[in-house]
Amino acid sequence: MKDKRDFLIFSILILNLFYILLLINGSVSRKDDLLIFFILLAASYVSHSFGIIRFGKFSVSLSFFFLFPMLVLFGPIITSIMAYLIVLFQYANVDIPRRIYGGVQYAIAYSTAGFALNYLGISVWGIILAFFVFKIINFILVDLFLYYYYGRYKDLKTSLKYLSLESGVFSLALPMTYFIYFSSGYITYFIIYTLLFPIFLTYLLSVESNARIELERERDALSKNVNQLKRVLEVSEMLKSNVPLVDLMMKVASIIQKDLGWEYALVSLVKPDGSIDRIAYAGISEKDFQRLRQNPPTLSFVKSLMRDEFKISHSYFIPEEANVSLPDEMVYVGKYNVKDIDSWKDRDLLWVPIYDKSGRMIAYISPDKPASGKRPKIEDVTILEIFANQVLIALENSSEFETLQEKAIRDQQTGLYNHTEFYNRLDKFVKSNGKFALLMMDIDDFKLINDSYGHQMGDLIIEYLADKIKNSIRHGDIAARYGGDEFSVILNDIDKTTARTIAERLRISVAQGNPPVKITISIGIAAYPVDSLSSNGIVASADRALYLAKMRGKNQVSFSN
Ligand code: GH3
Ligand code: MG
Repeated sequence: MKDKRDFLIFSILILNLFYILLLINGSVSRKDDLLIFFILLAASYVSHSFGIIRFGKFSVSLSFFFLFPMLVLFGPIITSIMAYLIVLFQYANVDIPRRIYGGVQYAIAYSTAGFALNYLGISVWGIILAFFVFKIINFILVDLFLYYYYGRYKDLKTSLKYLSLESGVFSLALPMTYFIYFSSGYITYFIIYTLLFPIFLTYLLSVESNARIELERERDALSKNVNQLKRVLEVSEMLKSNVPLVDLMMKVASIIQKDLGWEYALVSLVKPDGSIDRIAYAGISEKDFQRLRQNPPTLSFVKSLMRDEFKISHSYFIPEEANVSLPDEMVYVGKYNVKDIDSWKDRDLLWVPIYDKSGRMIAYISPDKPASGKRPKIEDVTILEIFANQVLIALENSSEFETLQEKAIRDQQTGLYNHTEFYNRLDKFVKSNGKFALLMMDIDDFKLINDSYGHQMGDLIIEYLADKIKNSIRHGDIAARYGGDEFSVILNDIDKTTARTIAERLRISVAQGNPPVKITISIGIAAYPVDSLSSNGIVASADRALYLAKMRGKNQVSFSN
């Protein structure tokens, strides 16, 4: 059998065959209980698998139409066992725990209803009481508990609305049940046969509407793709005009939110100093954005989660189950309340990184909560990455981005690299394993200059010295403002003795220079790999050397030993 439809046609044929046989046979009597039992069982099975009516999110299976008569005719024990088996072996795409749960709750509901029926005896009131007992237990176990557990529970009012809808549908089976019980022979079969029709009708209608829904979905997906590509193009158009960086990124976030199927989006820039700046957002409130902006994660944290196990294409999907400890103030935690396996969870994360030519991550996009409610598939990620590629071009073309990048690594006053960038560069030198020397220098008695000539003069001197340092290094060396009146210089591919010569030359040139106020400097030297094999070790060693130079009377160059 290829699909459900074949199965259904097959079942209808069998049931009709039964019916014709019964008609030919003429009269049937209570002696044929076993046959009635099997017809009810077969009808329950078919209607549980195919006779499903949907009210919005809630669906009703029409197996009640046959299980309830079975309950009245054959009692609670056999009916609850059959109900359990029907749910367990139903022909539908349901996972095993839910089959078992569904079966157990049916068994409980039918057996309790059966005992209620025994209590009142089989009568109009007995049947009505049994019906309500069944429905209430079923409501508590499914609508309240199971739907709550799976996140489909809405509120009591809605649930009660569905309870009355379901009860209305089910109550149609009550008079039939009554007649089945008190009828005999041929009439009994006729009633059962009549009861089956709404189920077939429901199923045929649902097959038709499913096909229509499928078609519409495909058409939507197609036009969605076209729309998404249009948006990607729109960003390319924006590249040509010189839009301010923040506006451009806000547009990027809003396209992700409006057109790429996500409810929230954040765009974060990674600055060269390793700090993360949330620059644009869509779908969340300004207040939430400001909170996120003030609590950016650290780059090392972000990188620690960009592991291969989370990789989809070039992006990273970090599922809630991974249990990464991300503080609430750092992320936007939506309340989605869904527990299906492939649904997007509250604490799921998706990061689409953007790398520059040298492979450095300069930004990442974090879309959140897909409109489909499902966890992203490779196609969803791919469209985001195509889009991210456009964003990369936009960033590379933005002069503002370039300045921003530069600003983050430079000391504003002198234009030399700043403290953080100095360490970044030093780490690279250490990693590359080639020899180099480090000079740490500090202006002698600089406080005096500030005190005697004022801070403006002090600033001028700092700038003067910075220029002198810039002019005395080669291409490939690094000069940085370590802090205050302290400067550091990395001399590439230089040993200690040569470093001393260069340092001496600089010291003398400063001492003999002609700034508005005369200054001298002290210099400490350390070298890699002879003094230490680590960045911190080299700096400590040069610092010690500088301290020695100061101790020995300033205006001199010193080694640490
Ligand atoms: P030493 O010879 O031991 O280095 O003596 P010092 O007076 O230079 O002492 P120290 O290096 O500890 O003090 C540096 C002072 O430089 C402290 C701070 O007020 C001042 N300073 C740091 N940065 C600037 C700056 O950008 N401009 C000005 N005008 N002063 C600065
Ligand atoms: Mg000083």
